[in-house]
Amino acid sequence: MEPRIIEEFVIPAEHGSAFLIKRGQVLRIHLVEGQQVGDCAFFNADDPKEQFHVGQTWALNVMLQTGTARSFRYFYSKPPRENLMFTVLEDTVRSHFGNCAGRCSRKLLALRDKREGVRSCQENLAEALAPFGISGDDIGDVFNVFMNVDLSTDGSFVIKAPETKAGDYIDLRAEMNIIAGISACPNSTNPVNNFRAKPLGVTIYDVPS
Ligand SMILES: [Zn+2]
Repeated sequence: MEPRIIEEFVIPAEHGSAFLIKRGQVLRIHLVEGQQVGDCAFFNADDPKEQFHVGQTWALNVMLQTGTARSFRYFYSKPPRENLMFTVLEDTVRSHFGNCAGRCSRKLLALRDKREGVRSCQENLAEALAPFGISGDDIGDVFNVFMNVDLSTDGSFVIKAPETKAGDYIDLRAEMNIIAGISACPNSTNPVNNFRAKPLGVTIYDVPS
């Protein structure tokens, strides 16, 4: 059967969006122009206390040999539940910053870039998730989709320009009802988005059986 599109929209450059994905539906995050990263927060829509956890997802994928810090097959919620939240069906990039969990914020931008009063992923996510009753304080780990980072053996890392192009995507099948918040990262002063903030595309679809 052909996929059936449930919802399709574009997150404008420098902004965020939050929306529901039902169990069994697939979230496609795709690149409208290429070289753009996103920060994604995921919650159990039926009990938002349960949310995505980077450390446990990284550890379980490595231990079960289903993925690495750059590319997970399975996304898990935080302990003590450790439930499966998403299964990756397809991924044309397979290089993300899967073991970070952080994001740009007012404080990070002030410390690193000496920039004040500019948009950041933390504020984008808090703004987008507010209608779901989720506040900035409630946002724990995020998944840094499409982010190209060199990890060093000494524990440091270097952010590089993404090697992605328009049309690249990752498909995540929801294994529970999910509230997703996604920020199209607003950074335009470093290589993370190759010095220009761009939009991100979202498609939610299912495959009728
Ligand atoms: Zn950001």
